Amino acid sequence: MLEIKNLHAEIDGKTILNGLDLTVATGEVAAIMGPNGSGKSTLSYILAGKDDYTVTEGEIRLNGENILEMAPDERAAKGVFLAFQYPLEIPGVATMTFLKAALNAQRKSRGESELSPSEFIRKVNKAAESLDINKDMLKRAFNVGFSGGEKKRMEILQMALLEPSLGILDETDSGLDIDALRIVADGVNALRAKDRSFVIITHYQRLLNHIVPDKVHVLSKGRIVKSGGKELALELEANGYRDYAEAA
Ligand code: ADP
Ligand code: MG
Ligand code: MG
Repeated sequence: MLEIKNLHAEIDGKTILNGLDLTVATGEVAAIMGPNGSGKSTLSYILAGKDDYTVTEGEIRLNGENILEMAPDERAAKGVFLAFQYPLEIPGVATMTFLKAALNAQRKSRGESELSPSEFIRKVNKAAESLDINKDMLKRAFNVGFSGGEKKRMEILQMALLEPSLGILDETDSGLDIDALRIVADGVNALRAKDRSFVIITHYQRLLNHIVPDKVHVLSKGRIVKSGGKELALELEANGYRDYAEAA
């Protein structure tokens, strides 16, 4: 379970998160919606441990442990996974090699042994197949020249391999056509599990037709200003964010 209490954070002396409270139960899919600039990406970066932000107050606990004291790789070892809005490209490193390094780094920090090459290949091929990822893509440099949809599928592939306890998707739907959106959503839905939570960050309701959330939270001016069930996303789609921006 993820518990965020009274989180305040700033960057370059500017306050971005301003008393954010959020609880996501184990096994739950929580959607975070909100206007541009409300702090959605900031929240995801702080969860992953990006060091540009200063947390000035509050706490973040994952399964009872204070993750704010952990380095990004320790958090990854604890099962925190962030799918980036703008995935990075790594020229000169084959996708397969990158995925193997990511998986083995996680295993190492957990004190587990490396997967054998054949175990790894079996695992990655199985996951790639379910996400409609061509095997030739796995031989190409990581994300280099991949289409938007291919990059998003690659993120979901990484997530499937790393089997996170907390998966965070920050506007993974941006720029996806309807087919890619469905593949990404199916991939996430296949990963839904009793021991895994998701935080799905999205500006638009569209993705939530495919990944139906248990809870919807509205983020405005750095705090959660309203929480509800999946119907709240439809209300936001119909009415926009204006009411919440003014209420904050
Ligand atoms: P969202 O993802 O909801 O659109 P962000 O978390 O990206 O919002 O940004 C929240 C606010 O923080 C915005 O006002 C943005 O301009 C500001 N911000 C984000 N990154 C920086 C930065 N590196 N320096 C200064 N301000 C920033
Ligand atoms: Mg933004
Ligand atoms: Mg953002």
